[in-house]
Amino acid sequence: MADFLLELSKNPQARKLVQTLGLPLPMPEPLQRPRGPRGDRPLADRAVTLRTAESTLTPHVADALARAGASVTAVGTAAALDGLGDVGEAFGRRPIRTDLEALGGSKARVLVFDASDFTAIDDLDRLWEFFNPLLGGLARCGRIVVVGRPADQAPTAAAAAARNALDGFVRSLAKEVGKRGAGANLLIVEDGAEDRVAGPLRFLASERAAYVSGQPLRVSARAKAAPAAPETRPLDGKTAVVTGAARGIGRATARALADEGAHVICLDRPEDASAVAQLARELRGSPLAVDLLAPDAIDAITAAARERGGIDVIVHNAGITRDKTLLRMKREAWDLCLDVNLTAVAAITAALSDAKLLRANARVVCLSSIGGIAGNMGQTNYAAAKAGIIGLVRSLAPQLAKRGVTINAVAPGFIETRMTAAMPAGVREVARRLNNLGQGGLPVDVAEAVAFLALPSSDGVTGQVLRVCGGALVGA
Ligand code: NAD
Repeated sequence: MADFLLELSKNPQARKLVQTLGLPLPMPEPLQRPRGPRGDRPLADRAVTLRTAESTLTPHVADALARAGASVTAVGTAAALDGLGDVGEAFGRRPIRTDLEALGGSKARVLVFDASDFTAIDDLDRLWEFFNPLLGGLARCGRIVVVGRPADQAPTAAAAAARNALDGFVRSLAKEVGKRGAGANLLIVEDGAEDRVAGPLRFLASERAAYVSGQPLRVSARAKAAPAAPETRPLDGKTAVVTGAARGIGRATARALADEGAHVICLDRPEDASAVAQLARELRGSPLAVDLLAPDAIDAITAAARERGGIDVIVHNAGITRDKTLLRMKREAWDLCLDVNLTAVAAITAALSDAKLLRANARVVCLSSIGGIAGNMGQTNYAAAKAGIIGLVRSLAPQLAKRGVTINAVAPGFIETRMTAAMPAGVREVARRLNNLGQGGLPVDVAEAVAFLALPSSDGVTGQVLRVCGGALVGA
């Protein structure tokens, strides 16, 4: 189902006319999305303005940006700038050091604010001082990343207040810049996880996170570190399973993982056998036609995993809705929704783990939903299942961490798929606008988030919920 306003806004003349006439039409900014698989330098020639902190984290942040190919201009105190050392020198892109006055009004594609030295409430003033003069020069579809430390590990109440303030700041900023297609997110880095910041920063600072906005993501050293992998085809030689791969988000995810080098086992119901067979052929993966609720489903999945010598990635994507208010809901609709969306996910993960078929440093990604966070009218069954996923992920993360296995949830908001095309037109039109970006996401946006979590360089992210919702205005 095409989004009429988004199509209209792609035409500069129509856009201008709507604005000139002052028509009350929300004109969403068409998002810039990535083309093709990952490369070594995702931020090549992007102007990035970095606020440095007097902390052990800043050199890692600056190094990650330089290695990603960015043209970094660094501002901060003399001590913070000195702390950068020779970061990036090997890549011929040493950050240019300057001060805010010299920068006033300059343009940037990405703004990164390292707040890891915040210890007092007054430190928050640095946010205004940095962003107020620079926001006007942020490019259309630009990215903002604020980096901080966890409030729950702060040494004093004042430090906890300053650290937690970043959350409210980023969520509000995301609403302000969303009209221009831009996004803002908070990266919370635990002590000892400094060397794991690069992967998440590359993602959030690039267009791969086009539909991710207004949320915190925590980086920890909980999971055993993954061996270093190349940035190009990082999943080469690895096997991934994607459930519900015949269409929508699952199909886009299978494609994204194959693009990064994985052999993808494309699983869907026997009714969709020909669609998965075709996809598997196209991606040089393997098809697996099995209904997750069939009594032999777990045997079929473990057998396919064993044949590949274990698996490195599983994406629990298959999902269904059976909407009705609880008063009118039939028992079958309740059961089916919980069985597919939650029980099968828990059972398959346990079976693969017990049979030692999740290889070291494997990645488990489970599809949750904004509905599981905010709740939705007529979706008690679905929202219970999707919130259950979040509980599952949080509980399993510490158990799996010893072998370097991470488990995370991805919670999409309104994504343009068969599921949302089935909504009544009026409800759909409102639902797709209820986020900072004023538009629905595409399956590829969710696929990009899943692929990010499947990478070796996401070893700092586990037990987390990554929302892909454009900064949904409801519930998140
Ligand atoms: P979709 O309906 O387009 O695709 C889901 C796929 O899962 C289908 O191919 C279906 O055949 C498969 N599937 C369902 N039951 C199965 C079973 N028993 N065994 C095997 N395969 C089965 O859905 P989508 O919109 O691509 O959603 C994918 C996931 O994302 C789901 O978990 C969904 O709940 C979640 N999600 C979607 C949205 C959205 O806006 N589209 C929002 C939030 C969450």
